[in-house]
Amino acid sequence: MRREEAVSALKNRFLERFGPFKEGDLLFSMAPGRVNLIGEHTDYNGGFVLPLTIPRAAYLLVRQRGDRRVSLWSENFSEGVEWNLDDPPRKEGRRWFHYPLGVVEALRGRFPLGGFEGVVTGDVPLASGLSSSAALEVAFVGAVKGLFSLPLDPLEEIDAALRAEREYVGVQCGIMDQFVSRLGRSGEALFLDCRNAEYRAVPWRPEGISLLVVDTGAQRELAASAYNTRREECEEGVSFFQRHDSSIKSLRELSWELFQRYGGGLPEGVASRVRHVLEENRRVREAVNALERGDFQALGELFTASHRSLRDLYLVSSPELDRVVASSLEAGALGARLTGAGFGGCAIALFRESDLERGKMAIQRDFEESFHRLPLFLELRENFGSQVARV
Ligand code: ADP
Ligand code: MG
Repeated sequence: MRREEAVSALKNRFLERFGPFKEGDLLFSMAPGRVNLIGEHTDYNGGFVLPLTIPRAAYLLVRQRGDRRVSLWSENFSEGVEWNLDDPPRKEGRRWFHYPLGVVEALRGRFPLGGFEGVVTGDVPLASGLSSSAALEVAFVGAVKGLFSLPLDPLEEIDAALRAEREYVGVQCGIMDQFVSRLGRSGEALFLDCRNAEYRAVPWRPEGISLLVVDTGAQRELAASAYNTRREECEEGVSFFQRHDSSIKSLRELSWELFQRYGGGLPEGVASRVRHVLEENRRVREAVNALERGDFQALGELFTASHRSLRDLYLVSSPELDRVVASSLEAGALGARLTGAGFGGCAIALFRESDLERGKMAIQRDFEESFHRLPLFLELRENFGSQVARV
């Protein structure tokens, strides 16, 4: 959806739900979803990630009210919700309105807020691993900040979005999604250090190159339990190496030398997980260098190496993801990998534009043959950042 398209669709719906508005009454806020280019299962190990916003976003249009009520309409769910600021609904839950509720509650403790009303829509596929939830939170933080002129800097906005998800929705997420949704910009990826939240923009100018996002639509049933097991294995790795060097607080502090010297004493599974994390952190740094040189060939090779490592060392791939990656490479992709926690969700593949159509056909054909349904494609040539504006 283009910004203008979103604004005009939201204005129509706003008029229908909340009545006429005057020029300048309405505040528009939007925030994008994301894909992680590389750096998987590194975040909770104090490591590096390299996310990129996608040209899909949460969009909302809001207006202040004279009373203490918050009234919202969701286009995606065709459902309205209304509550009194001073008497909010039960705190936790995972319905769509718990995200805006969480944002309002995270800010209400610190600032005087008034009532408001608005309509919300979005075209980030929901629950596909492209972070529609962070997009929704960041868009709401921007809207509430703008409506009530809150003195929040971008990092405080991110903090409010994170608190909404962690404390009110009850998902213990990492920092990546909210960071990139708020700070990602057109023509840039975001290099983020999850140990200390330091970040910097990295150029994303894929001339003649397309990033293809392939949503396998596969359920991620295994994801939660396996995710916890992986985290435990990484912690086991940290405790093991702490006996050799007490300054190691996370796998980020573990050197390759120490791993080589003592890693043989670890259970084989744990050693594989640790090795993935060490090598993946190195690949993220190399990917940053590749993007700075505009070397998409090198980026592609790093994608593929990351996938192999996630498949063979970290054991978080799935038949669907492996199929998409293999088909992409056979069709001439520069590289491909699963993105997100794994066990389903999305893969990404880097194609020369001249190979893209052939690539999509091959992926689709192979996927349908193996799984008797079709994957969803999202092509990414350009990307954009969040914005808030009077309309
Ligand atoms: P992901 O962030 O990977 O897309 P999550 O499960 O974290 O998946 O978040 C998806 C949920 O976020 C949806 O089920 C819905 O409740 C909420 N959500 C996201 N975008 C919107 C939107 N545009 N409108 C209403 N709810 C949304
Ligand atoms: Mg999410």
